Amino acid sequence: MVLAQVFTASDLIEVVYRISLCMQENEKYLTDLDAAIGDADHGINMNRGFRNAVERLRQVNQNLDIGGVLMTTGMVLMETVGGAAGPLYGMMFTNMAMVLSGKNELDKKGLSVAFSEGLKGVQEIGGGTMPNEKTMVDTLYPAVEELKKASNDSNVGLVDSLERALRVAEQGMKSTAPLVAKKGRASYLGERAVGHQDPGATSTYLIIKVIYEFAKEKGG
Ligand code: ADP
Ligand code: MG
Repeated sequence: MVLAQVFTASDLIEVVYRISLCMQENEKYLTDLDAAIGDADHGINMNRGFRNAVERLRQVNQNLDIGGVLMTTGMVLMETVGGAAGPLYGMMFTNMAMVLSGKNELDKKGLSVAFSEGLKGVQEIGGGTMPNEKTMVDTLYPAVEELKKASNDSNVGLVDSLERALRVAEQGMKSTAPLVAKKGRASYLGERAVGHQDPGATSTYLIIKVIYEFAKEKGG
C-alpha cells in the first residue's frame, strides 16, 4: 500500500530554505559551469535569489498557503536573481503558485500539475524553449514527464515519483554537455559550448534533488 504523502506550506518553506543552503554550497560549482559557456554568474545569481527568498518568507506574515509560499519565492527570484535565470525561475515558481493558490497540502498529483505549469512558464518566457537546446528545460522537461506518469500510477507515491523525476532530471542535465546551445548566452558560442554541462540545467537538477531528499526524509 502506498501511504499518503503530502507537503504542507511549512514543508515548502523548509524546502526553499534547503534550496538556499544547496545554492550556497554549489555557488562556485554553478559559477564555474557558467564561466565555461556564459559570464560566470549563475551560482552567484541563484545563491543571492534564494537567500533573499528565505529572508522574505521570514518577514512576511506566516499563515501563507502553498500558493503563497511559492508566489513569494517566485516574486523574489524574479526581482533578485538577475540575468536570464531571474525571470525563468521567477516564472517557474509563480506559475506553480498560481495552480496551488489556496491549497494547504500538496500531493503527487498537485506536484505534477505544478511542475507542469512551471515548465510551461519557463518555456514561454524563454521564447519557446524545447529540450535539446542546452538549457534548464533539458532537466525540467523529462522530470515533468516522469511526474505526470507517476501521478497516474496508483502504485507510486510522492517520494517514488520524485525519485523517478530526479533520475531522468540527472540524465537530462548530463545530456546538455555535448549539445550546441540554441538559447541564452551560450548560444553565441556555437561549437565552443560543446563539452560543457549547462549551468541552468544543473541548478534545476539541484532543486529537484533537494525536494526529493526532503520528501524522502519526511517519509510517508
Ligand atoms: P545569464 O545567462 O543572463 O548570465 P544565468 O547565468 O543566471 O543568466 O543563467 C543562465 C542559464 O539560464 C542557462 O544555463 C540556461 O539554462 C538558462 N537559460 C538561458 N536562456 C534560456 C532560455 N531562453 N530558455 C530556457 N533557459 C534559458
Ligand atoms: Mg550567466
